[in-house]
Amino acid sequence: MVARYFHAALTLHMKRAQDKVVIITGGASGIGRVSALRFAAEGATVVIWDIDAARAEATCAEIAAQGGQAVAAVVNTTQPEQVAAAAQAVHDQFGRIDVLINNAGITRDATLRKMTLAQWQQVLDVNLTGVFICTQAVAPFMEAQGSGRIINTSSVVGLYGNFGQANYAATKAGLIGLTKTLARELGKYSITVNAVAPGFIATDMIDSIPEKVIDMLKSRTPLRRLGTPEDIASAYLFLASDEAGFISGAVLSVDGAVTI
Ligand code: NAD
Repeated sequence: MVARYFHAALTLHMKRAQDKVVIITGGASGIGRVSALRFAAEGATVVIWDIDAARAEATCAEIAAQGGQAVAAVVNTTQPEQVAAAAQAVHDQFGRIDVLINNAGITRDATLRKMTLAQWQQVLDVNLTGVFICTQAVAPFMEAQGSGRIINTSSVVGLYGNFGQANYAATKAGLIGLTKTLARELGKYSITVNAVAPGFIATDMIDSIPEKVIDMLKSRTPLRRLGTPEDIASAYLFLASDEAGFISGAVLSVDGAVTI
């Protein structure tokens, strides 16, 4: 009994990402921003890679105000040379890279007839190729240290499609194949690779959806609400934690059961 209380007390004081160096792409807004705040509160050194310098700096300032540690770099995840230099800079500054959260993503919605090749290509570049580029740049550092966590942000749309989102759905489904393949390739270095598939989450990304559609989405979700960025940050934190050490190649749906 005493041992149990002691263990509980110890757990209460232990931060879940203590001393981990965590890169979050797209950490300037939405899910990425909230995740950056959460990881920093759990003791991580957070590195934000985003194209939005002002919002990335604002997130770092918020983290610093709470006593956490974070740095931001303007990185376009679709640019291999920028990403490689940024990964090297993180390693030079902090000596290791423990977690890569491939969270940056965009939408350019249109139905098949109206979707331009540019819209198709932009979404593929950011949501899929960008994840490949970041992972290829960071994985060698994890391989050398013999540990690492890579978390890719898929979507329920990658599992069951969505009207007007052929490009987005293709990328989010593609990430699942990428995740499973890299889980196989990188497992021997004790690197886990997992995906999180959020349902509809209240962020800027879904701001343009009409109120009526939001109500319909809520009513079709068994838990009867939209997700929050905190719900997704919790899933990232779990997959990055020591408790998730034997979970790899998994797709964790965080969607209020909308996909069952
Ligand atoms: P958001 O638009 O609020 O944030 C995305 C961030 O990515 C922004 O800060 C943006 O500047 C950054 N970004 C865009 N292109 C970039 C690039 N090339 N390089 C670096 N940074 C770039 O979006 P969000 O809602 O927080 O979504 C985060 C992730 O979650 C995305 O991958 C998205 O597809 C996924 N997701 C979101 C929802 C949702 O309902 N919001 C649902 C499922 C999945």
